Amino acid sequence: MKPLYLSDPQSFLHDTGNHLEIDSRVRIIDELAVSKYHLNSLPLRDGTKEELYKIHDQSYVDWVESGYENGVRMIISSDTILSQGSYEVAKRAACSTKVVVEAFKSGVSKRAFLNLRPPGHHAEIITGQGFCIFNNIALMAKFAQESGYKNVLIIDFDVHHGNGTQDIFYEDDSVYYFSTHEAHNYPFTGTAGEIGSGRGRGYTKNMPYENFITDREFLKLFEALPKDFKPDIVLVSAGYDLMKDEEISSAQISFDALGKLIDLILKEYENLPIAFLLEGGYNLESLKRSVDITLNKLCASSFC
Ligand SMILES: [Zn+2]
Repeated sequence: MKPLYLSDPQSFLHDTGNHLEIDSRVRIIDELAVSKYHLNSLPLRDGTKEELYKIHDQSYVDWVESGYENGVRMIISSDTILSQGSYEVAKRAACSTKVVVEAFKSGVSKRAFLNLRPPGHHAEIITGQGFCIFNNIALMAKFAQESGYKNVLIIDFDVHHGNGTQDIFYEDDSVYYFSTHEAHNYPFTGTAGEIGSGRGRGYTKNMPYENFITDREFLKLFEALPKDFKPDIVLVSAGYDLMKDEEISSAQISFDALGKLIDLILKEYENLPIAFLLEGGYNLESLKRSVDITLNKLCASSFC
């Protein structure tokens, strides 16, 4: 059985102009998914702003919705552009994650790749930032829980810390957030001491690493994946900006190591639904090759 696949042909309407996070990123992945893997996108859904309230403050969502017409052109900084179509594209990306949850639930497949933009893991409860408007993976976790998946494990291997995802689930013991990221890189959060609070204490695990980490050291970090937390579904913030040809970080992870990481995740949680959601990755050639490796392994493990 093929992996589930999601891609938005209208995502160019989130027009970032001269920026790292551009529509070509998802277009080259889409070409690859269709031509090499014969994957077609599931139908997207526009969703509602009320669904976004599950993870973001109502006032933030409403501000983004009316932002462009009120003259807002960026969120916090020029990193995060708000163009005329941005709200609808970002809402559709976050809300369409529900389609994959429903397909998992119906037993069609246990593997998925969500080729969506803008990325989401920097979007906190009260604001977007760092190219992210709404937090796609966090809303997918909420949808998953509503459909009966009680415990959700989020693995985030983007080179940047997913401060937004951490923020949304910091006091939650039903969503375990595990992140590996460069310590001295944006957004400068995610120290090992940030472990969650209240009921969520012990359900956030940060594995920051120094610049120029080796493949071996990087893969070893994943030995710390939780042993006591038993997930019902695994969601992966797949940020490919840790690869050797990326200029946004000093990490130099090889394609071989990336393949080993994907294998490790698929083997460790073999019997569970596993979805990979695109986060970072800005060198188009490197991004294409990285997603090729991911899709190849997802297809190989989509027997279920
Ligand atoms: Zn990143």
